[in-house]
Amino acid sequence: MTSNLTAYITLMCTSGVLNLYLCSYVFLKRHHYNKIALFFMLYTASITIYCFAAAMGLLAANLGEMKFWTTVQYIGMPVSSPLGLLFIMQYLGIKVSWKRAVSLILVPTLSFILVATNEWHHLHYRSFEIDAALGIPFIQQEIGPWYAVHGIFTFACMFAAFSLLIFHWKETAKAYRLQLIALMLGQLIPMMTAFLYLIGAAPQGIDPVPMVLWISSVLYLWAIGSSRLFTIMPIAKDAIFNGINDGVIVLDESNRLIEFNQACQLNWPNLNESMYGMDFESVWVELAGYPFPLRLEGDSKTQELKLLKSEQVFQVRNSPLEQSGNTKGQLLIFTDITELKKLQEKLEHQAYTDELTQVFNRRAFLQLCEQDFIAAKEQSTPFSVILLDIDHFKRVNDTYGHQVGDQLLVHVAKVCKAQLEKDQIFARYGGEEFVLALNSYTGIEAEALAERLCKEVESQPIFLDGEMISVTLSLGVAEMEVSEDQLFHLLNQADEALYAAKKEGRNRVCVYAGSHENKKAEIREQIKS
Ligand code: GH3
Ligand code: MG
Ligand code: MG
Repeated sequence: MTSNLTAYITLMCTSGVLNLYLCSYVFLKRHHYNKIALFFMLYTASITIYCFAAAMGLLAANLGEMKFWTTVQYIGMPVSSPLGLLFIMQYLGIKVSWKRAVSLILVPTLSFILVATNEWHHLHYRSFEIDAALGIPFIQQEIGPWYAVHGIFTFACMFAAFSLLIFHWKETAKAYRLQLIALMLGQLIPMMTAFLYLIGAAPQGIDPVPMVLWISSVLYLWAIGSSRLFTIMPIAKDAIFNGINDGVIVLDESNRLIEFNQACQLNWPNLNESMYGMDFESVWVELAGYPFPLRLEGDSKTQELKLLKSEQVFQVRNSPLEQSGNTKGQLLIFTDITELKKLQEKLEHQAYTDELTQVFNRRAFLQLCEQDFIAAKEQSTPFSVILLDIDHFKRVNDTYGHQVGDQLLVHVAKVCKAQLEKDQIFARYGGEEFVLALNSYTGIEAEALAERLCKEVESQPIFLDGEMISVTLSLGVAEMEVSEDQLFHLLNQADEALYAAKKEGRNRVCVYAGSHENKKAEIREQIKS
């Protein structure tokens, strides 16, 4: 055996041993690593077979043994480059479906079968002989058509892996660039060596690739040991993505589902990986049972989404994913705001409701009434208000105590509310006074309703501690005049009418006579005198 040959075999065995070590190391630690380690294991296992079989081929004693070891080489060599590509894809976070993985293994499988059966068809090697000049184990081969397919495919995979790494250079954090360089060289070194061999720049008769694969292995060893290839970067990415409490969904430019995180699965347990590639509208229909109610097109926006079945409320933010100015898809972030919404509703309720009687408070009344007042003015429709005041309420407090007074207030509010339409704004105006806004009610119609309220309260006493307590109301009615443009004027007029009702003996309704009526009366008085 020549010393050159010994060196070749030693280099090949070194590559084989290092890859076997890498494969076993990752296998033993696989539970600590994330899923990209699986393809790395298969990748290094295939290279191990390739390297040892190549070394054994150089130790062959005859052509039969050389053919046998070549066939063994083809178990590992053709499949190693697609496995390397799959490993790099997963490392870069590119989705690797089983379909894609299997389709990449198809050509290598055929290559192995065709090499094993080459004698019958000569599709891979037209001829495979011992080199006449150099003798065993150097080979003189004439390649067949399938060899070209196999060669192009192998190159294409290595080139694709290398290119993907280059494309991701920019978006890779500086701290991980060395790791990226190690992976790039790991692909580039065998690719360049194979290229040199094919163009005749390497010693003929022996495949030099297994002799340089140890360099790639050393680079991978460094990447795993020093820059923690399988632990830090991919796991950190996964952890961040899945650690977010908000549901995150990634869609491509045609709104197809690409990715989702664990928080999404908590909200929608039916969401699963088989839905990848499905149109998001169809995914949503499958999850919720109805079409997605929000618009996803256009710029970033935040919208609110109330689920029909669970009563959950989400804030949905969608933002386009852009790369060099082109939209590549979009991100949907679902934040559960159900509790926040409930709290908000509770606070709003508290802010606008009178705690004792549970009708609107003065603030709510003024806000709501103002809107109706303005609308009535604009549309020239009638609008009236009624002020209601419990007669001699102080006496009730003095006689029965404050608590009974409170219960009476609740009772009066209830009796009045029972006479009103749901959308009519009835509020506690303060103390023992209530107020009512009446949309499209003329003064006469409002007066009729006021009369009814007066009678109802009078005729419905309350029984407390065995005592029958009855109260009466004084009510002041005022209708909006065409010239009137301030709500508080109208309320003052109702107050004046209420004062008149008190003055005239209580338990009655008085209607504000109208400013022009007052003026006419004043003029009449002046003429008389
Ligand atoms: P008038 O017929 O002239 O309206 O006599 P009145 O006693 O009803 O009127 P006045 O304004 O003199 O007294 C109102 C009373 O209402 C005084 C106050 O103690 C009582 N009051 C106000 N708010 C509440 C409340 O929330 N609960 C109770 N129990 N009493 C209240
Ligand atoms: Mg009062
Ligand atoms: Mg009173």
